[in-house]
Amino acid sequence: MDYKNYVPRKIRRKIKTKICSKCGKEKSLRNFYYHSRRKYYISHCRTCSDKRVVKYYKINSNNPKIVFQIRSCEIYRKCRVLKLPCMSKLLGRYLVKLWDESKQTCYYTGRKMDLKGYPENPNAVTVDRVIPEKGYVEGNIVLCTSIANRAKQNMKYAQLISFCEEILKNKKRKYLTSLTE
Ligand SMILES: [Zn+2]
Repeated sequence: MDYKNYVPRKIRRKIKTKICSKCGKEKSLRNFYYHSRRKYYISHCRTCSDKRVVKYYKINSNNPKIVFQIRSCEIYRKCRVLKLPCMSKLLGRYLVKLWDESKQTCYYTGRKMDLKGYPENPNAVTVDRVIPEKGYVEGNIVLCTSIANRAKQNMKYAQLISFCEEILKNKKRKYLTSLTE
């Protein structure tokens, strides 16, 4: 815990500005992130904090532990907003386990997944809820390529399969060959 930056509530009400420990500029408190659990303002200003996160992400984009830790934070936030069920704080570790167990292949297509490049890269790894309303709980989470996740949308697995079968059955042979030739 960063005691140096702790400002007691009584004093905090009076202080309106703070000096950023990174860029050294004095800025209004509104320009600093507030750590709600630890109850203090972060020592870096918002601009410096954001830059730091982007840099951290870039440096560690090959490290599954960190990539899934950041992804799990996004999922926690999403679950809070959408009121979805979500497993405990161990989601990040669980995702790393799935990443290793799946041998980095997509649950739906069997394609090799990339750790990097979401959302532009169609093969970038994404986290999917097999049964959407069950949320992010153990046994309902799989890793799949971004393109498979987008195609599946909110469908259940059985619905996805019958949807794919429908497309195959309705395959327009003439149209497809005319395009590829
Ligand atoms: Zn700053």
